Amino acid sequence: MKILEDINLSNFSTIKIGGKAKIIYFPENIEDIQFLIKKSQDENKRLIPVGIGSNIVFKDGILDYIFVSTKRLKKLEIKQRKDTFFIKAQAGVSFKEIVSIVKKFNLEGFENLSGIPASIGGATAMNAGAFGSEIFDILQEIKWIDNNGNLHISKKEEIDYSYRKTQFQKEGFVYEVIIVLKKSNKNISEIIKKHLLERNKKQPLNLPTIGSTYKNPEGSFAGLLLEKAGFRGKRINDIAFSEKHANFLVNYGNANFKDLMNLLELAEKKVESQFNIKLEREIRIIE
Ligand SMILES: Cc1cc2nc3c(=O)[nH]c(=O)nc-3n(C[C@H](O)[C@H](O)[C@H](O)COP(=O)(O)OP(=O)(O)OC[C@H]3O[C@@H](n4cnc5c(N)ncnc54)[C@H](O)[C@@H]3O)c2cc1C
Repeated sequence: MKILEDINLSNFSTIKIGGKAKIIYFPENIEDIQFLIKKSQDENKRLIPVGIGSNIVFKDGILDYIFVSTKRLKKLEIKQRKDTFFIKAQAGVSFKEIVSIVKKFNLEGFENLSGIPASIGGATAMNAGAFGSEIFDILQEIKWIDNNGNLHISKKEEIDYSYRKTQFQKEGFVYEVIIVLKKSNKNISEIIKKHLLERNKKQPLNLPTIGSTYKNPEGSFAGLLLEKAGFRGKRINDIAFSEKHANFLVNYGNANFKDLMNLLELAEKKVESQFNIKLEREIRIIE
């Protein structure tokens, strides 16, 4: 298994913040992951799966955890039964790769998710979603490994999941999923293009970011609350809530973890005092 030492974690988070990992592992199969889980138990160190890093932010300094990148878990298999396609994808397969299959066969069910910069593992752990769809809508089966190293093959109904939340945020390594999609009569490439244009219009894609900072509270929008509380464009040194989208943090160059945390705390306090709503963080913070 490939191992890297003394690695800049900012290269593993799309907001480009973070200190150094003592070590990062790149497993290639189930046995590698089971080995790493055992190691994390033996050494009493947290195991942290890392996908594309588009929802994760690392603290500064030296981090001595078992970081496990899914970059080498890239197997992808397509099976077709009449109009139904079964896409078996390992954790490190990117949404971009799924989108090219979707476009090639004009498949329906994935189009709303198409612009999310995710890996299969990260998206499953986060139950990523957009435009009224979420990945759990189209998952059939999840192969995952628990914290004792046991392998499970679960139907999605057996997994605890809800809006941007799954049991994998507490425990377990997503190894592989099966996605089910159907041939469509609509022009799927056109729909995807429209969604991408809309994202481009609304999201600060020209700067390092990690997507939505907070989940939308029931009946409201985190972005709207932040805006009303005066946080659109609010900046501490090089970290800011974007001018373009108040719920997206952006890094203007040299943002650091401390400033990011200070900005989050300010925003959370202000929104709570102004609206009596506790914002729940969507981004995963590794301290
Ligand atoms: C520009 C931009 C737009 C975005 N738009 C959206 C959007 O529309 N909808 C949306 O839901 N999100 C959005 N996001 C957030 C992010 O893309 C999603 O949460 C995505 O699912 C994260 O995938 P990842 O591979 O980058 O995961 P990471 O950020 O690497 O990890 C996220 C979490 O999942 C865990 N994890 C990663 N892989 C595994 C695994 N194999 N097994 C178990 N746990 C794992 C990590 O430990 C971490 O806790 C956006 C982000 C950006 C930067």
